[in-house]
Amino acid sequence: MSVNLTVRQIFSWTIRLSAQPDYQALTHKFLAILAEIPWIDSATAYEIYNHERKKPGETGTVHELLIRRFPLDFTRNDEQDPNNLLDGLNHSADLNLSIPDESGSYAWAIFSIKGGSGPERVIHLEGAFKQEMLELLGNLREIYRNLIILHDTKERDVLTKLPNRQSLDARLLEVCEHYSDYQTIDKQAEKSSWIAILDIDHFKRVNDNFGHLYGDEVLLIFSQLLGKCFRYNDFLFRFGGEEFVVILNLASQATAIAAFNRFRKEIANYHFPTVGQVTVSIGLTHVNGISMPSTQLDNADKALYRAKDSGRNRVILYEDMDVLTGDDNSGEVELF
Ligand code: GH3
Ligand code: MG
Ligand code: MG
Repeated sequence: MSVNLTVRQIFSWTIRLSAQPDYQALTHKFLAILAEIPWIDSATAYEIYNHERKKPGETGTVHELLIRRFPLDFTRNDEQDPNNLLDGLNHSADLNLSIPDESGSYAWAIFSIKGGSGPERVIHLEGAFKQEMLELLGNLREIYRNLIILHDTKERDVLTKLPNRQSLDARLLEVCEHYSDYQTIDKQAEKSSWIAILDIDHFKRVNDNFGHLYGDEVLLIFSQLLGKCFRYNDFLFRFGGEEFVVILNLASQATAIAAFNRFRKEIANYHFPTVGQVTVSIGLTHVNGISMPSTQLDNADKALYRAKDSGRNRVILYEDMDVLTGDDNSGEVELF
């Protein structure tokens, strides 16, 4: 089979790819275009996270590659599934290929997409590829890569590289829509999602006492500790300033509270360079498919304020707040 493409076809692909509003939509479209090509049997995208971990009792760090299949299905816990994809591959190469058959055709190809502020991405293709097809795919990869870099600039925070507020709005809507299919959700069930706002305590003092640069360093390390403490199928965001958001998935109420307390303690026990100790207050609420996403975020914020009011360095669950008494009843009365 030959490549045999018209100029019209190439323009059509380019226009469709460049019309996508965000990284998710772009990647869905890119996979759809690849799937239309007759000599490609399957096309799958993965995101690769390079985690640095310190082993207890050892001074050096170990690098761990965590591979997420796209799109991430937060309702399934298949963390280990694709993790052997890169076994035996030259990780630094732009393209890895199977051993060619006698006709010079490759049965699989893995294109790497580096650049941008997000994780490294790879596209795994199966089919029958000749050299001229690989050239074409390499060019398509370049278009996809350039668009990813643009989307990352818009969707990710410059300092921590985490998805930003805009990405949170889109992702929270997606998670809420998932739960809107369910009439009731059991908060004790292991399959619940939770949204938390995490706000560093007295961060202004960090800036005032040590300067903005050290403040920035705390934010960067904080975001890295978030990445290490939360799981593969949780979503992390920089909400703005010294505030972060976590959407924790596949967890019961008890598991969620324990996970946020674990992170809170991890921060309190961490020695930040120069700055020393920093603490964090966390407000969280159960994600449901009934209320508006903005209301749910607001409820997490109310719980956060209660955590601040009651002494900081603590986790408060909105559902545990006595909302009909005290100072939190204002949001509960909807007049219009
Ligand atoms: P609280 O415990 O009530 O949260 O007190 P706080 O000082 O953390 O809260 P406040 O909202 O008064 O101050 C937040 C500070 O965060 C003010 C601002 O200078 C700082 N900040 C926001 N964004 C950044 C940033 O990107 N880098 C640095 N270094 N500081 C930031
Ligand atoms: Mg704040
Ligand atoms: Mg703060």
